[in-house]
Amino acid sequence: MTKPDKITDKVRLQDAQTLAQGYSPAIRAMEIASIVSFVALEGVLAYKLWSTHHTGPWLLTLAVVLGYLAADFVSGFVHWMGDTWGSTEMPVLGKAFIRPFREHHVDEKAITRHDFVETNGNNCLVSLPVAALAVAVPLNGPGWVFLAAFLGAMIFWVMATNQFHKWSHLDTPPALIHFLQRVHLILPPDHHRIHHTAPFNQYYCITVGWMNRPLRMIHFFPLMERLITFVTGQLPRQDDIGTEAAQALVAVDDATQVPVLQAAKELLKASAEEPAATVSSRPVP
Ligand SMILES: [Zn+2]
Ligand SMILES: [Zn+2]
Repeated sequence: MTKPDKITDKVRLQDAQTLAQGYSPAIRAMEIASIVSFVALEGVLAYKLWSTHHTGPWLLTLAVVLGYLAADFVSGFVHWMGDTWGSTEMPVLGKAFIRPFREHHVDEKAITRHDFVETNGNNCLVSLPVAALAVAVPLNGPGWVFLAAFLGAMIFWVMATNQFHKWSHLDTPPALIHFLQRVHLILPPDHHRIHHTAPFNQYYCITVGWMNRPLRMIHFFPLMERLITFVTGQLPRQDDIGTEAAQALVAVDDATQVPVLQAAKELLKASAEEPAATVSSRPVP
């Protein structure tokens, strides 16, 4: 079995400068348009929620907190997709979405040099359809109001994710930001450091990180990777860390399977080998 520390030696890093050059004026224009549209949609939603009589402080607080948890999960899922699948050579998706993920592993401080547009544009773009959906929800009763507030809050936190993530990479964050990180109300730097250890295959959630441990406990991402490899035949992280390291990592993941999966596999194997064994397996008293 290949040991995890061997994989670190095999990790092939892409050229940071080439990745940084992929940020074109057309992508920047698209990002600015996305930010303006997103702010407008959230403004409309806030006005609608303010105007309805079905709303209340508890309902809104619950929507905001659940929205925060959901955003943390979404941040992890999107980050995992960007880190694990596809390549920077892919048309449209490659330059606009995959490039920033690859760049972040080889030059993690680059994000601290990005201005507001480069930091938040991408997330605003992917958030637009959900923000539009939240605005479109009819506010006919408390349930609908909750749904609209939840979607609006979740997508607001999704939008704020890259900003929180950027702050976690600052050497000396502003005092208030540092305090929020210390009490773990936004992504703390120490917590995020776990993701930045090669081969970059855990702790993907980057809004606040509350979902990282539960997802790790249930082996969420390794299971998803196996499913996608099974369906598409793709090797996870091949473009990010190179074929050799990616293959070695899959071998390690296979060796450290979720207990429940292992048990299921052994059961299947046993029943295939001895189909009649289960019938008379009860001990005679
Ligand atoms: Zn990553
Ligand atoms: Zn990071």
